[in-house]
Amino acid sequence: MSEPTELRKVESVVKAHRQREGAGFIVRRPFQTAGFDHADPFLLLDEMGPVEYGPGEALGAPDHPHRGFETVTYVLDGEFEHEDSVGNRGKLGPGDVQWMTAGAGVVHSEMPSKKLRQAGGRFHGFQLWVNLPARDKMITPRYQEIPSSRIPSAESADGLARARVIAGEALGKRAVIETRTPIQYVHWTLQPGADVEQSIDPEHEGYVYVFSGTAEVGGRRVEEGELARLGKGSGVRLAAPKGGEVVELLALSGVPLREPVAWAGPFVMNTREEVMQAMKDYQSGRLGEIVRA
Ligand code: MN
Repeated sequence: MSEPTELRKVESVVKAHRQREGAGFIVRRPFQTAGFDHADPFLLLDEMGPVEYGPGEALGAPDHPHRGFETVTYVLDGEFEHEDSVGNRGKLGPGDVQWMTAGAGVVHSEMPSKKLRQAGGRFHGFQLWVNLPARDKMITPRYQEIPSSRIPSAESADGLARARVIAGEALGKRAVIETRTPIQYVHWTLQPGADVEQSIDPEHEGYVYVFSGTAEVGGRRVEEGELARLGKGSGVRLAAPKGGEVVELLALSGVPLREPVAWAGPFVMNTREEVMQAMKDYQSGRLGEIVRA
């Protein structure tokens, strides 16, 4: 264990708010939120569900564009179907990750699977928006689709903590996903009594979002639906109190871009002119459209 002085403390705690997205599904959103609009290099985190859909109830986000950033979809329960203007088409199931670099732009649709829409069922997942640096905003769109079986996972020596490494590193395991700027994204499951250290590059801004149970983050209690903003340091202590519930959380960090953000709906650029251009390009069909048989 490192010297306590090197470990990050919680600087503040933000409560996620509920909001409607896409065709009207409810998300729990820790950022952006009132009083916390700057999670550089991240833009937005949505927890979709957990929700138990009845037959015909499941909603998604039909055809819409993106330019200038990345969307990272992580499914925990249920199935998601996507298709886009570049011709990609696929399904995400429990534990699967899609890291989409929108770059210069795509039009895509993100929907619960046909089975889930028809029969109903449980759905739970996350979508994180990662900003791209100015030099990468107009790159060719890129997909990294990683099935659950290829997401590296690691367990603590006492077996009480498990990490799924989506980006970056945890417990000595490295992610298979490549990021444009240094990003860490780890899903931790902590059994009661678990006590681990997540290393975080000192250059990163760090956040911990607790989505089940009550965790101890840097020695401070953080409840379900709360995001902890971390101070400086080379790691953070993550624990699940003995006698409590199982804790699930996301440890997110990245090197801040420190660039101007011009954000309008699905477009995130550096200037207002670039956002206007994105709208024009979308309206004139230059971001393409989804071709359906
Ligand atoms: Mn989208």
